[in-house]
Parts: sequence; C-alpha cells; structure tokens
Amino acid sequence: MRTETEKLCSELISIPSINPQSQREYDQSLFGEQRVAQYLADWFRARGFAPEVNEVSPGRSNVLVRIAGKDHSRRYLFCGHLDTVNVEGMARPFDPEVKDGRIYGRGACDDKGPLAAICVAAVEAAGTGELPCDIVILASCGEEYNMMGALHYARLEGNALSGAVFAEPTDFDVIFAHKGVARLDIDVPGLSVHSSMPEKGDNALYGAAEALLAIREFAIAKTKQAEHPLLGTETVVPTIIKGGQQINIVPDQCQIKVDWRTLPGVTPQQCADELQGYLRAKVKPGINVSVMESAASAMESDQNSEMISKLSAVAGRIAQGGKTKVAGYATDASAFADAGIPLAVFGPGLASQAHRVDEYIDIDQLNTGKEILKQFMLSL
Ligand SMILES: [Zn+2]
Repeated sequence: MRTETEKLCSELISIPSINPQSQREYDQSLFGEQRVAQYLADWFRARGFAPEVNEVSPGRSNVLVRIAGKDHSRRYLFCGHLDTVNVEGMARPFDPEVKDGRIYGRGACDDKGPLAAICVAAVEAAGTGELPCDIVILASCGEEYNMMGALHYARLEGNALSGAVFAEPTDFDVIFAHKGVARLDIDVPGLSVHSSMPEKGDNALYGAAEALLAIREFAIAKTKQAEHPLLGTETVVPTIIKGGQQINIVPDQCQIKVDWRTLPGVTPQQCADELQGYLRAKVKPGINVSVMESAASAMESDQNSEMISKLSAVAGRIAQGGKTKVAGYATDASAFADAGIPLAVFGPGLASQAHRVDEYIDIDQLNTGKEILKQFMLSL
C-alpha cells in the first residue's frame, strides 16, 4: 500500500517543472512551475483547504496554504520548492520509477519528495485539530536559479513569521547556517580599431588578462581573511570569460563571470562594489562589476533557538537524526536571512543525490520525514 506521501511525490515528479533560468521563451510543458502549481493547489483543495496560487512573474507561481492553529499570534513557514534542475542525460525523468525501496525521477529528493512530506504532514497535523499555532505552506517557484518565489513571499510576510523550515534533502540533519552566492558580471572595456593599427586602440583582452590575475590575488587574500567559525572562508572563482568580435578587430569588450560564495552579513551588491573598487584601482578605471540575477544571501540562525532544539529533538527521537550542521549550498532560506527569525533546512533524502541523472529518494526516509515534520508541527 503506497502512502499519501509516496503518491504525492510521484505525482509531482510526473509533472515537469524545470527552472527556465534566464530564458524568457520556453516550452511550458517542460519548463516553469505553472502546471505543477495548479496540481498542488487542486490537491489541497480536494482536502478542504483554500490554497492561493500567486503569480510571481508571468508563468511562474507560488502556492500558498494558510492553516490556522490555536494560537494565531505565532506563524511558522514550511517551504519546499516546485522547480527542478534540467534533465539532460536522464532516460525517463518524469516517469517516477519505484525500485529497491526508492522512487527515481527528476526532483525525487530535490525537492518534490521533501515538498510532498511537508504537504502531507500539514494536512495530517491540521486534521488532528491540535495544531498549536498557525502554519503556512509555501511551495515556491524559482529556487534553482534566483529564489524569486521565496523572495516574493519574504517581502510580503517575512516579518510576520515566528520561524521557518525549508524542506530539502538533508538526511535529517538540521542545517541552521549556509553560505550564500554572489554571481558577478565584470565588463572590461576597450577601444576597437582595425587590427592593422593596434596602437590606436585599447585591446580589452589585455585588460581582461590583467583583471583575471588581479582577481586571483583578490581571491587568495579572501581565503587568508578571518574564518567564520562554522562556514570557513569566502571563495571567489572566475568561471567564464568571453571577449572579442572578429579576427581583424581589436576588441572593445571582454566579460568575466565570477562565482563568489559568501558568508553571513554580506550582500551580493557589497561584493560587486568591493570587487569593482579593487579592479578599478588595480587595473582600469572603466571596469564595471554588476550582480547577476542568480544571487542569494548567506544565512545563519541561532542553533540554540527553541525551534531548532525542538526540530532536532523530534528528528532524534523518530530517526536518530537531528544533528545541527552548516552547509555550503544556498537555499530559499536565503530570502529570510534578514528576518531575524529561526531558520532551518531539513528534510528526507540525501543532498548528494540532488541534481544527479539517477536522482532518487529512499521511500522509508520519505515517509519518516513526513512523520517527523508532522510531529514537529504539532509541537510548535
Ligand atoms: Zn532544492
């Protein structure tokens, strides 16, 4: 007999919702969260709830379900994301296969399994009539690129929350801090002329070469700065370079992209300003550094908060889990980094299984995860 959580996980996998990243035009049968959002809203409606489908941008929606408990002065958010990464190399990504006690398919552990677990947990917890306080279920869009759905909700209601749990595959560890990421576009300008008279121009490729070497020094200096006690140091890595137009033109532009893993308290814009100041002083005054769309803040919440202690205790009791840890990857929790509330990333499945061509979630873990989340909701 398949449980409600297994069924919902499989149904969500079978509805493609690949994050379109920066594409504006895409095939809605494969990309975007619209179809899976409608499915999940219907799923809640069929169980007597009144979900809201909030369009965050055209074709991209959050699903929000508000569930009243006894004490309306406290409200906890439970968030999982609707989108997945791409499916290249997968034979049947949207055809959930049950094999060896696992469900295979795109999103099985990141994040449709954990999302199914919070949805079923919330319905069951509400059904007891014993929910101590209000909870909000947010099935967010856009987590795999720029967290647009979580940011949208955080702007509206982030300050009214008492705490938030982000369902992601953590093998039942409780993640209370993680790094953020600033992705930066560096524009190195030049002056283009015919390549037969290079002395009259300013070759942007040479400027970019100098900028790259300067970025290497900058990155090394960052790793020698004081470490965060848990998250270590920042990393600054140039990952893409593009420049030049034609073989017989001295190029007037070259772009470098940098992936910068940040520590709590630093915004992507501050990173851009810092690197721009450094490169202008060291290489060329005309260099511009801007923040790409896909940026996320680091988050750090109090590992001794009551919410995290309770979640750890319930996970320890039911599944020998609940160890408090930190992570290097960013999640939707980034959107709430400044809200001043307890934040935890927690859920069934292994983070090492996310984004793989053989992505799966262990069925026992999935069901246990639902139970931990339900008992935790009832303990709030
Ligand atoms: Zn995820």
